[in-house]
Amino acid sequence: MLAVQLTAWGSEPELRDIPTPQPRGTELLVRVRAAGLCRSDLHVMDSAAGSFDYPLPLTLGHEVAGTVIGAGPAAERGWIGENVVVHGIWSCGACRNCARGRENYCLRLRSPGRGVPIGNGLGHPGGLAEAMIVPTARFLVRTGSVDPVVCAPLADAGLTAYHAVREHRDLIDAGSVCLVVGVGGLGHLAIQLLREFGAGRIIAVDNRPEALAMARRIGADAAFSEVRAATADLDAGADLILDFAGAPGTVGPAGAALAPGGRLVVVGSAGGRLEVGKDVGLAAGWGVTAPFWGPRSDLAAVVELARRGVLHVETETYPLTEAVEVYRRLRAGGITGRAVLVPPA
Ligand code: ZN
Ligand code: ZN
Repeated sequence: MLAVQLTAWGSEPELRDIPTPQPRGTELLVRVRAAGLCRSDLHVMDSAAGSFDYPLPLTLGHEVAGTVIGAGPAAERGWIGENVVVHGIWSCGACRNCARGRENYCLRLRSPGRGVPIGNGLGHPGGLAEAMIVPTARFLVRTGSVDPVVCAPLADAGLTAYHAVREHRDLIDAGSVCLVVGVGGLGHLAIQLLREFGAGRIIAVDNRPEALAMARRIGADAAFSEVRAATADLDAGADLILDFAGAPGTVGPAGAALAPGGRLVVVGSAGGRLEVGKDVGLAAGWGVTAPFWGPRSDLAAVVELARRGVLHVETETYPLTEAVEVYRRLRAGGITGRAVLVPPA
């Protein structure tokens, strides 16, 4: 089968012909129908040897939708024929965070983003291929008749945005002032989720004019090129600020723009810093969180929103065989929304 594999650290991936894996034990074999490209793939491929404890060659792809076509002897055969999206956090299922339904903070996957393998495409063979193995049905969510090209980006872009918003629903109501900083693959979904959850005022921030146009189109009440300009006219600051950039020019100004009791959610990791503490100029009752991805229950919820047509995912579709070129385009900033690759039928 065709697979997009990283064969050396600090290099581009290659399209290779490899044996189709066979499911063993509790494993399920998924025929891939769509797989999204993520900027974190670029971070993995750019890394020096030793940064990640991932065996090479590694098939990339942590946003995967497809159909279960095979099962190992100990697997639940009822999954065969089901359309699914793969939850990319292959948690232990037994630690205290897994028991709480917070598998994205599984204690066996400490130091996420670096070090130990997390799941498909991030240490284990991923879904930028014609087929992939999933160790257990615990990492699958049924998608029914929802288009796989829509479902694939839900595995990371959708799930991460949903989790970042959902944890702060107590702050989202008709009176809320919410800021979404960075209107890309995640931010454009966050705007729609805030709208769905009933946020009163949604203000988008991005330095790209085309992103601001998209923000207005999908439901932002206002759009600005900078955090300071976006918050200058607010009476009392913002209740909830979702920073999908996490850059030096966004995190600090966002922290300063919180209303009393407000929260800053830093999702992007572009090197922004914020000094926190009592009496350092932040609003009373400030909160700052830095969520990582999301649990399976949130993936099921975001799939349900897509099924109901509440969530519109901006995608660009390409054949799997063009993966190397599409990664180049992603790196150059030439992709708006999410690039999704489709294997040959
Ligand atoms: Zn990702
Ligand atoms: Zn665990």
